[in-house]
Amino acid sequence: MRLVLVGPPGSGKGTQAKMLVRRFGLRHIGTGDILRDAFRRGNSTDKRLEPVIRDGVMASDDLVNELVGELFASIDRPDAYVLDGYPRTLAQAVWFDRRMSELGREPQAVVQLCVEDEEVVRRLSGRHVCPACGHVYHADDCPPKVTGFCDHDGEMLIQRPDDREEVIRSRLRLYHTNTESLVARYRANGLLKVIPSVGEIEGIHAMIVTHLTGRS
Ligand code: AMP
Repeated sequence: MRLVLVGPPGSGKGTQAKMLVRRFGLRHIGTGDILRDAFRRGNSTDKRLEPVIRDGVMASDDLVNELVGELFASIDRPDAYVLDGYPRTLAQAVWFDRRMSELGREPQAVVQLCVEDEEVVRRLSGRHVCPACGHVYHADDCPPKVTGFCDHDGEMLIQRPDDREEVIRSRLRLYHTNTESLVARYRANGLLKVIPSVGEIEGIHAMIVTHLTGRS
């Protein structure tokens, strides 16, 4: 199975991707994670990465295509995958579809997770992450047992710099500007399925699975 998840920040792409990985044995490719990881390792693309990580500025199409391209250039390139946060622009989609068609690994379904903007702001501005194990908490929805500290390893939780409200709003504007043409492309070729990403995480997962397999 080869799958693309599209959705605004905070729509649960990462969470749903992880559940799909467990259910179908897919490789999870999250470009946000790849970019944060590249930034932490301080590689040669460093300068281009700083505004992306700190201010939520979109990485250039060339940079993300390059990083995704490297992943698919390796000998153990993913056969079954779920892409989370990529492609995010029409140019990325055109590049990716062409590259995947060369490799015989075109996406088979594109799932768009839909959430209202105000709900996105609520979700992300209350989100805190453990810098050690990556576990994600939410001040209202799933708080840690001890405020500010990870249940699993006791590390002090942090807020991602791009989860500040003004940054979230600018990320949302970028999402809307870029997604329209991307979604239109996948609607036109029959791959797109729109799923409301509200309510129980398990219920949303079940809707995606039903769409992908025809059964829940
Ligand atoms: P995410 O973890 O998916 O919210 O991504 C974090 C940040 O990385 C985003 O706000 C963007 O600045 C950047 N980013 C992630 N994926 C892409 C992409 N496909 N194209 C451009 N920028 C991206």
